Amino acid sequence: MSARFQAAVAGGGTVGLACALLLNRRCDWDVALVERSAPRDEDGEGPQRALTLSPGAVETLNECGLQPGRPPGREGVPPSTRTRRPRSQDFPAHAFSRMVVWRGEGGPWSGNSITFDAAEMGVQMLGCVAHEAPLRRALWDRAQQCKGIRVYSGASLASVRIEEDCGYLDLDNGKEIGAELLVGADGAQSKLRSALGIEFRSSGYGQTGLVFEADCSEADGDTAWQRFEDDGVLALLPLSESRMSIVWSLPDERAEQLKRLDDEGLEAALNDAGAGVAGELAPATPIASFPLRRSRAEQVCGERYALVGEAARTVHPLAGQGLNLGLGDVEALARVCAGQGDALIGDARVLGRFARERARYGEEMSWGIHAINAAFEGALAPLAALGMSAVDRARPLKRVLAARAMR
Ligand SMILES: Cc1cc2nc3c(=O)[nH]c(=O)nc-3n(C[C@H](O)[C@H](O)[C@H](O)COP(=O)(O)OP(=O)(O)OC[C@H]3O[C@@H](n4cnc5c(N)ncnc54)[C@H](O)[C@@H]3O)c2cc1C
Repeated sequence: MSARFQAAVAGGGTVGLACALLLNRRCDWDVALVERSAPRDEDGEGPQRALTLSPGAVETLNECGLQPGRPPGREGVPPSTRTRRPRSQDFPAHAFSRMVVWRGEGGPWSGNSITFDAAEMGVQMLGCVAHEAPLRRALWDRAQQCKGIRVYSGASLASVRIEEDCGYLDLDNGKEIGAELLVGADGAQSKLRSALGIEFRSSGYGQTGLVFEADCSEADGDTAWQRFEDDGVLALLPLSESRMSIVWSLPDERAEQLKRLDDEGLEAALNDAGAGVAGELAPATPIASFPLRRSRAEQVCGERYALVGEAARTVHPLAGQGLNLGLGDVEALARVCAGQGDALIGDARVLGRFARERARYGEEMSWGIHAINAAFEGALAPLAALGMSAVDRARPLKRVLAARAMR
């Protein structure tokens, strides 16, 4: 006899947890969440991935009951007007209000740059930078405390079955979960997606993302920087006035070379690429590396199922949008489901509305990111550089670009 729920979410990463919380909150559903590896206390100790969260993503996290808080001794995120005050279990995050993107030698002062400014856009912040582990832990704690969510932790999804009135998740510990809607939030290697036979088209960029933190001598703590090199993209994201998260996307071979450098060699290469925008940079944590792929599920919903987050797509990290897109999926799915009576839970026509909305937005964003990456490589590079200063002068276009990235 299987336990029965209105929704069952496979995968308790950041996106799956937010999904369970939002479906429970907006639809008032009982939700099951299956996760093979619960957050561990030591997750925050090793090298950590820092993520840029858009204001739209922060709103979604607010609705999940989280308020980004101020890291010790650092500038926090302006409190949302729509939500409560920060609490101890909330996650640390650092807000920034300026972003400078440039290309070529000589730093952003050479003219090939675009500056996005929160005041110019009429918003409080452009985004904030948060470490993934404490964010996931805060969502996990919320889900554990939520009466309407049952967390199946330490168990893997083994197989999936869809029958007329119910979908079933079979776990490797022998348990079976029945739900009217199954949500695949189990990441790029999604078992739910493959068990349903949904194709996942994927192509490598031939690039690796190197992620580490660096101490910096002259940052203002309020500006994020992004440099397009001939063969890569360097992002410097403020974690405080003296610490930057570095996300450096490079061709695989060059990334390997950088990983093999000694401390002095890496510091020299980083300072060369950083062009002094944040003063002297000194790598302060080990390097974590990620192969970069662009992927897309052939379909993201059908009768009794929907895919969200990296189960639905992966994008290049250059625009820092992967998690933002995933949280956007969750918001759209919960909104569409909440707008329907419970008689239609898991109905493919209802879910189709979610799919159409996300296809429009996700594809635009994914292709946009892909196109930017392609444009800054090879023969188109000088054109792209020219385009940058033109965009910088065109305020309305800049506002459109920024508004999209902030959703
Ligand atoms: C270098 C790099 C930098 C990035 N920077 C940014 C950024 O600045 N901003 C941003 O928005 N995004 C960024 N991203 C993307 C972002 O990290 C991801 O989009 C996001 O973490 C994906 O979340 P998810 O919950 O969909 O998937 P995941 O985090 O992969 O979570 C999937 C979960 O499902 C569980 N699971 C999987 N299979 C099973 C199973 N069979 N049974 C049970 N559980 C299972 C896993 O244990 C995991 O917890 C970056 C990515 C990279 C590579």
